[in-house]
Amino acid sequence: MSSVWQVLVGNLAAVALIVSMWTHASYRLYRLSAFKQSAGLGLALGFAAMSSMLLAVEFDQGIIFDLRLAIIESAAVFGGPLAALVAAVMAASFRIYLGGAGVVPGLVSIGIVMILGLGLWFIAGKRPVEHAVTIFSAAALAGCLSVAVLSLLSQEAFDRALKEVGLPIAILNFAATASIGFYLAYFRRFTLERDILYAALTQAPDYHYVKDLQHRFVATNLRVARHNGRTRSSEMIGLTDYDLTSKERADELTAIEEEILATGKPLERFEEFLVEEGKEPRWYSTSKVPLRNRQGNLVGLSGVTVDITEKKNLEQELRASRNVMAQAMAEMSDGLAMFDPDGRIVFCNEQYQALFPRSAYARCKGAHITDIIRASVRNGERKDLPIDLAEDAIQEAGRQLFVNKDEILALADGRWLSLRTRVTEDQRVLALVSDITALKESEQSLRELAEQMKGLAETDSLTGLANRRSFDNALSREFNHALSSGRPLSLLLVDVDRFKRFNDTYGHMAGDECLRKVAGCISKAARRSSDLAARFGGEEFAILLPDTRADKAIAIADRLRQSIRDLAIQHEGSEFGSVTVSIGATVLSSQSLISNAAELVARADLALYQAKGAGRDCVGFQRLEDDRERKSASRS
Ligand code: GH3
Ligand code: MG
Ligand code: MG
Repeated sequence: MSSVWQVLVGNLAAVALIVSMWTHASYRLYRLSAFKQSAGLGLALGFAAMSSMLLAVEFDQGIIFDLRLAIIESAAVFGGPLAALVAAVMAASFRIYLGGAGVVPGLVSIGIVMILGLGLWFIAGKRPVEHAVTIFSAAALAGCLSVAVLSLLSQEAFDRALKEVGLPIAILNFAATASIGFYLAYFRRFTLERDILYAALTQAPDYHYVKDLQHRFVATNLRVARHNGRTRSSEMIGLTDYDLTSKERADELTAIEEEILATGKPLERFEEFLVEEGKEPRWYSTSKVPLRNRQGNLVGLSGVTVDITEKKNLEQELRASRNVMAQAMAEMSDGLAMFDPDGRIVFCNEQYQALFPRSAYARCKGAHITDIIRASVRNGERKDLPIDLAEDAIQEAGRQLFVNKDEILALADGRWLSLRTRVTEDQRVLALVSDITALKESEQSLRELAEQMKGLAETDSLTGLANRRSFDNALSREFNHALSSGRPLSLLLVDVDRFKRFNDTYGHMAGDECLRKVAGCISKAARRSSDLAARFGGEEFAILLPDTRADKAIAIADRLRQSIRDLAIQHEGSEFGSVTVSIGATVLSSQSLISNAAELVARADLALYQAKGAGRDCVGFQRLEDDRERKSASRS
């Protein structure tokens, strides 16, 4: 009995050895297709079945007991139809070759176990070794079948076989199937883990490599191999940097690795710019870590190198454009500030602060717009922000930052600033401030100049009174106004008497001086701001008196005549002995039937003519609607 156990356990050991050999071989032959792998498993288990038959327990002449049922079933359950077929054909052939009384039951049992095994393979979803339940089911099936096939013997042989070898046959078939299943499952998991690690290393995007203590490559990914002119990672194994690059470079790399191994301190993100022969110069970042085994001893180092050329180029571009921006901001004469969506300064240049000296201290990075306005208010910096501005108004002014606008700020120190605020798409605000004081001043002086020019264009240079052009404009304006309003408009024409003789007697210069004095009196006569005294031409003057009735006009004229006489300018050529004037007066009233200003002048001229005719140094008056008077005046 004990010999049965011994033989079958030895049988199991042989089977285990063959299965182990196959799994190791299959690990090496990982490139084989699934079909070939399956056939290979069938072949290995076929050999296992054959060796099991060679080590079998001979029960009777030609009747042998072994573990072939467990092996064929394992081929079916764990390898699928092809493995089952290969193993079964090999086992059956060998059984036939061995011959004896048990050939037929042996072949029948091989067929049965193959079919049942395939059934289990199918039920397990064709992935049997992933589930312990399937493995145990297969083992139980093998154990049961090994006993069940004994019934193919004669009754007497069955009874004896059951008694003598039933138990070891059942147990060891069970054990053989279970161990084949679990071993295959374990090896599959182990292979999977290594495959994943290997794939992770070899297919990683950057440069990955592992070196031993002698700086030899133990593993690299494909990228490292290709970078060094190899087509496969395996070609890198055993090489050192001395085989791949210049001696100087290899010395340098080896020194770094020596230090890592000596100190145990990793190298982290070491950046370098490499110019390699025949390649574009590029930036790399390298990290290397020392590797220790489970006992904590150094066994090598692992490195990863990343090509950071793109990143570096971007960084350089960014730095360059930042420098350009900073330089532009520093050198621009305008003040520039950017506010974030909360209203805080993100950045500002020095000019921005310098333009607001009283609140410069508050205009710094991180400062809020309301604090800036508050500082401006407190220091009375802006004319438009009174020193006692209420908090509500300050808050409102802060909100106004987020509105696109162009403003002109008048500062208390007399300067003018132009402030442009622009809100960007992401709700930031750009504020551009320029000092426009010079512009404002030149604008002001231009305005004054224009005023002056206008004055000159409207003034008579000799007397300082309004000139003829100015008089014509005023006349036309006042005439229309009088017509539309129905208010009276009086006109006085003043002519110096015997002035030709004055010139002849005292000379032209004295004549001019005399005209200036006369003009002084005329200017005084036009007392109201609406009155206009003008030099009409030569030694003739005109006074326009809006809203003045005839009696008033005549009185003004007479006072003027008297005031000129009172000047007492000596005039030998005059019958009066001094300079006098004759004045013609007329008035446009609501009853007047004229439609243009020239008629008014003509009527005043007529009155003047009348005064001359009346002996000079007097006032003549012409009423527009009094035709008889006009006729008599023209006659005289
Ligand atoms: P009457 O009393 O009739 O007005 O005599 P009159 O000599 O003033 O007559 P008339 O109007 O002919 O002479 C005007 C003179 O005024 C002629 C001209 O020599 C002189 N005159 C005109 N304009 C100026 C001026 O700007 N300066 C000087 N000095 N004389 C002027
Ligand atoms: Mg005259
Ligand atoms: Mg005259």
